[in-house]
Amino acid sequence: MRTPRLEINLDKIEHNARVLVERLKLLGISVTGVTKAVLGSPEIAHSMIRGGVIALGDSRVENIETMGKNKVSAPMILIRTPMLSQVDRIVSFTDVSFNSEIEVIRRISASAKNMNKMHNIILMVELGDLREGIMPGDIDNIVHQVIQLPNINLKGIGANLACRNGVSPDEINMSELSDIVSKIENKFEIHLETISGGNSANLNWAFGCSNVGRINNLRLGESILLGLEPLCNQPIHELYTDAFELVTEIIESKTKPSVPWGKMALTAFDKIDVLTGKKYISQSILPIGHQDIDPNGLTSPVGVSIIGASSDHLIVESIDGKLSVGDEIRFKVNYSALLRAMTSPFIKKEIL
Ligand SMILES: *Cc1c(COP(=O)(O)O)cnc(C)c1O
Repeated sequence: MRTPRLEINLDKIEHNARVLVERLKLLGISVTGVTKAVLGSPEIAHSMIRGGVIALGDSRVENIETMGKNKVSAPMILIRTPMLSQVDRIVSFTDVSFNSEIEVIRRISASAKNMNKMHNIILMVELGDLREGIMPGDIDNIVHQVIQLPNINLKGIGANLACRNGVSPDEINMSELSDIVSKIENKFEIHLETISGGNSANLNWAFGCSNVGRINNLRLGESILLGLEPLCNQPIHELYTDAFELVTEIIESKTKPSVPWGKMALTAFDKIDVLTGKKYISQSILPIGHQDIDPNGLTSPVGVSIIGASSDHLIVESIDGKLSVGDEIRFKVNYSALLRAMTSPFIKKEIL
C-alpha cells in the first residue's frame, strides 16, 4: 500500500460522535460536528451525521462547498466570522454564520436580499479567551441593529473559549452567557433558539456542572475525531483515540553516532533535544516532515522514538534493534499533527 498514508476509521468516528451526542442529549445539548480539521471530508461528515450531529460547522467556506458538492446534507454553519470578500459565497453555501462585526452582517443582509434568501446569524460574545466575539457591554447595541436588518434571522448567541489562551469554560463564564441570553430576550422580546456554548473544551464543564443554564448546543471537532478532551489532553471514556493513524516507510536506516560533529549553527526548525547515553544509535529516516505533520504531535510505537525533523525528513531512533528500509511505522496523531496531515497533499488519505 502507498505511504505515507493517513488511515481513517469511519466507524470509530461515528461511534465517538454517537456517544457524545447521546451523553449531551441528556443535558438538553445538541452537537454540531466540526469538520475543519479534516478539510470538510464528505466521508467523515457522513460519519458524524450517522452518529447524530444536528449540523456541521467549519471555519472555511471552501470546506463547506466541498461538502455541499458531495451531497452531504445537513445544515451548514460557518463557525468563523466571514471575510467581507467571501460574503456572497457564504450566503450561497451556508445556512448559518457566526458573526462579531456589524459591518459584515450588513453586507450579509444586502447579499441575502439580492439572492432573495434568509441567512441565520449567531452572534459571538467575548467571554475572556480574547479570540472572536463582541464585548458583553456592546451586545445590546449590536442586537438592536441586527434585528432590523432585512433577510437576517438572529438565530442565537455563541461563545468560544480555550482556543487562544486556554481560558476554561466554567460555571462562571457559562452562566454569564446564559444571563446575556435572558437579558437580550427580555429587552428585545425575541426568542434566541440556539445558544452555542463552545467546543470540545466545554465537555468537562457540561458533564461536571449542576446546571447547563441556557446552553443547548456545543460544536465538537477534536473530541469526535480523536476521542480527546483538549484542556487536559485526556482520553474520553469509551471513545476511540485511534480513528486516525499515520503510516509511513523507512527510507534510510543506519547505525550512526548519537552526537553531531562540525561547527554548529541555526536550523530551520527547532531541534528536538535528545538525551542518550549511547555513543552510537540505530537511526532511521521516514519521508515526512514539518510540511506534513507536527513532529511533536506524533506518538511513535513502542521501541521507536522521534529524535529530529526537518521539512521532509523525520528521524527516529529504534531501541530494539535496527529497522530496515521499507519497514512501515505507524503513529498516532494529535490535533495539530492531524491538521497538517490532512492538509498535506503528500499524505494519501486512506478511508477504512
Ligand atoms: C475549531 C472550532 C470548534 C471546534 O473545536 P474543537 O476543540 O475541535 O472541538 C468550535 N468552535 C469554533 C468557533 C471553532 O473555531
